[in-house]
Amino acid sequence: MQNIIDRFISYVTIDTESNPDSKTTPSTEKQWVLANKLVEELKAIGMQDVTINNKAYIMATLPSNVEHEVPTIGFVSHFDTSPDFCGANVKPQIVTDYDGKDIVLNAKQNIILSPDYFKDLLQYKGQTLITTDGTTLLGADDKAGITEIVTAMEFLIKNPEIKHGKIRIGFTPDEEIGRGAHFFDVEKFGAQWAYTMDGSQIGELEYENFNAASAKITFKGKSVHPGYAKGKMINSMLIANAFINELPSEEVPEKTKGYQGFYHVHHLNGNIEETIVELIIRDHNLKKFEKRKEKIQKIARKINRKFAKQFGEDIVIAEIKDQYYNMKEKVLPVKHIVDIAEKAMRELNIKPIIKPIRGGTDGSQLSYMGLPCPNIFAGGHNFHGKYEYVPVESMQKAVEVIVKIAELTALPDFGLEQTKKTKKKK
Ligand SMILES: [Zn+2]
Repeated sequence: MQNIIDRFISYVTIDTESNPDSKTTPSTEKQWVLANKLVEELKAIGMQDVTINNKAYIMATLPSNVEHEVPTIGFVSHFDTSPDFCGANVKPQIVTDYDGKDIVLNAKQNIILSPDYFKDLLQYKGQTLITTDGTTLLGADDKAGITEIVTAMEFLIKNPEIKHGKIRIGFTPDEEIGRGAHFFDVEKFGAQWAYTMDGSQIGELEYENFNAASAKITFKGKSVHPGYAKGKMINSMLIANAFINELPSEEVPEKTKGYQGFYHVHHLNGNIEETIVELIIRDHNLKKFEKRKEKIQKIARKINRKFAKQFGEDIVIAEIKDQYYNMKEKVLPVKHIVDIAEKAMRELNIKPIIKPIRGGTDGSQLSYMGLPCPNIFAGGHNFHGKYEYVPVESMQKAVEVIVKIAELTALPDFGLEQTKKTKKKK
């Protein structure tokens, strides 16, 4: 456990905040500091073929230690932290034998991490928690994932009696700004499938995420002196307002959960002459996703028809761009990769929590790039803010899950045939 704590703290105390406004990769120069440190560390623990490219993507190999053919698998995580909250000068606090009561993160500023509000805390009574000091995020997203992968590799190297195939690991920059997979060389990685260690609480196992698109809708208008405007003025803000009112009012993030999709207007900026509305469209179901995009165009056409005579050209222009797709399409044909992870958890007495992600992961992009890639818990909670914390026991369990997946993959039928048989007997 101390090994995990020390390693994790050595990562989170290095600021690696990414920046969506930057055009470079990595988006911030400071990500190199941790990237270079990781390269040295991977070499030091005995990993092979440790490489870092000119965009700070790190890859390394743990060679197979069995004679027979075993599929090469991978584990992936990201070392940047979210630009949503300060990631500099992280001062981790260690709470041992957590008593289930309020944790004072910062006495001076009266910042409390309380189980009254964050009920999840109570399941970690008696465990060791790592928290922030209330002024920064922690960076368990996803330095917990990096810690777990490095620790698992070190464990496998030190315990060669545990049999496994070839394992590839990959660490990326800029996941938090949606670019983590962009320059990931899937061919060079050379794994048949992989797992991102980037989920939240212990047990999480995810292979479904949203289909996602963004829309930028431009409304045009005509400005005329209000005193002489009758029949002449067209106020683009009011047209935009009418457009938003046509969207189903119940299908918004604040009123949906589970598999329910939504439209989310997140930006609105305008004057009489021009108003721009930006929104995102999300749905797990591909057909419904396409329908949602069509609905946007339908409303635009309706308004365009209404103003066709008066305005003379299209008054509404809807530009819709797909962002990412549900990895389920790519993972279901190779469902055993999820089953292996599930079996690994069950063998370690971890209750798998399999649920659809209401968002995307790097794994969804990687899955469409040819590397099917479900997501496994890294253990942290309350990502991207000052209440972020991680139980060390959850990180330890994640290490064990990685080791177990490596073991199962080297077994005949990945150890899955056996499960089916015992299930039948019952
Ligand atoms: Zn993450």
